[in-house]
Amino acid sequence: MKAWVVEKQDKIENNPLELRELPVPEPKEGEIRIKITHCGICRTDLHIAEGDIPLSKKPVVPGHEIVGIVDKLGHGVKKYKKGDRVGVSWLYWTCGECKYCKRGDENYCPHIKRTGYDVDGGFEEFIVVNEDFAFDLRNINLKSEDLAPIMCPGITGHYAFRISEVREGERLGMLGFGPTAYYILRVAKSMGIEVYISTRSEEHKRIAEKYGADWVGNLANEKFPKKVDAFIFFPTAGTLVERALENTLPAATLVLGAVTMSPITISNYTANLWGRKIKTIYQVRRDYGNEFLEYANRLNLTIEKEIVKFEEVPEAMLRLKKGEINGMVQVIEF
Ligand SMILES: [Zn+2]
Ligand SMILES: [Zn+2]
Repeated sequence: MKAWVVEKQDKIENNPLELRELPVPEPKEGEIRIKITHCGICRTDLHIAEGDIPLSKKPVVPGHEIVGIVDKLGHGVKKYKKGDRVGVSWLYWTCGECKYCKRGDENYCPHIKRTGYDVDGGFEEFIVVNEDFAFDLRNINLKSEDLAPIMCPGITGHYAFRISEVREGERLGMLGFGPTAYYILRVAKSMGIEVYISTRSEEHKRIAEKYGADWVGNLANEKFPKKVDAFIFFPTAGTLVERALENTLPAATLVLGAVTMSPITISNYTANLWGRKIKTIYQVRRDYGNEFLEYANRLNLTIEKEIVKFEEVPEAMLRLKKGEINGMVQVIEF
């Protein structure tokens, strides 16, 4: 099968992705093999290709927003049959036996395996996965090209939304408006939550307004119209954290979505931090993922996207880096 692999990390301009021929994987006990039809391209894939994140295996096939059709069953598979539609996210496998798995916090499992990072991901034609870790997409009415981005920004956004503890009738602020924030906006608006969004991109401002944001501006030089009950923050600039906190009410939760962050400075503890909670998103988890799929199905959550041919993946990733994509996300169609 054809696969895009990263062996030597480098700037995307220097083509770190190589097209190779790999053997089609065989499903083991409890595993299903998926013929991939769609895979979203994520900024994390760009970080893996460019070396912002060290490689966990070498070479590796990136891609963790996978949708496809079951084409072969390993021994003992119970849930699925050939022809069923399933998805695979960043969470490829967890042990099920450690204290975190046992208490329902599998995203903290120290033995976690991540798709397109610890194991080969979706920039290839087939993948095998344990049936318990595939998302069941048989009863979801969205197209596969709309389901692929749900496998990462969708379910990650829902995780952030859940731990932000924002409730119906309250106000939610967000700094940064990418695909993850887009899904949060859609769900929040469906629940009668007022949403304020800070973004610099004109294209993102347009999309945020189109989908019902109550205020769209730039916290760099203005404030939210009212203080918010919860705040979801995407940048990696720690210097902006206090700017976000200045716009929150006491008792608010601030959720940080980044994997890396420059030093965070809080100069006015009493005014800006006292009484607030700060949480971070850590990996992803199946329970929030399945919950989000129900929302996505009910709300018919499509997304503005660019369809990419398999052969065009390197060029597509260059456009992602330059911020030149049409819409919010890119999805590879096989
Ligand atoms: Zn991702
Ligand atoms: Zn575990």
